[in-house]
Amino acid sequence: MKFLGKYLNSLLLIELLKGLRVTGHYFWGKKFTVFYPEEKTPQSHRFRGLHALRRYPNGEERCIACKLCEAVCPALAITIDSAQREDGTRRTTRYDIDLTKCIYCGFCEEACPVDAIVETRVFEYHGEERGDLLMTKEKLLAHGAQYKKELANDRSKDAPYR
Ligand code: SF4
Ligand code: SF4
Repeated sequence: MKFLGKYLNSLLLIELLKGLRVTGHYFWGKKFTVFYPEEKTPQSHRFRGLHALRRYPNGEERCIACKLCEAVCPALAITIDSAQREDGTRRTTRYDIDLTKCIYCGFCEEACPVDAIVETRVFEYHGEERGDLLMTKEKLLAHGAQYKKELANDRSKDAPYR
């Protein structure tokens, strides 16, 4: 009896019809394809993309070279050197992030006590030459300046929790 059922299923192409029914359902149904880069998917304000170093509104660097981000980074992608300034405060003399090692976990951002190192929503970047993906302090500060408004806006959405 079982054999006969299988034989009829095979003869009437039941499995094929079942498959075509699924195809038909998606063919006429709502489309999920996104035509990137013309179309973009929605993005969270907590998206973890390209890194940036932020400054205070008076232009002073936020980073106090505590090295918590360097210590917490699981990929060992951050390298920091620091020195004391004439006014007695401590600042970084070197702040590098090797993006070829980074896994975009966001731990550096979470660990930072002064909200200095952050991740922007930028994900459309690439490197063509050796070193392009090594983010130096100068590059990171430049990102901070470039995306200043968006970064401040995104952080204000989490203000009660920060
Ligand atoms: S996002 Fe994660 S892996 Fe990348 S630099 Fe920060 S802590 Fe390291
Ligand atoms: S970015 Fe933040 S966590 Fe890292 S060294 Fe500077 S102040 Fe410390």
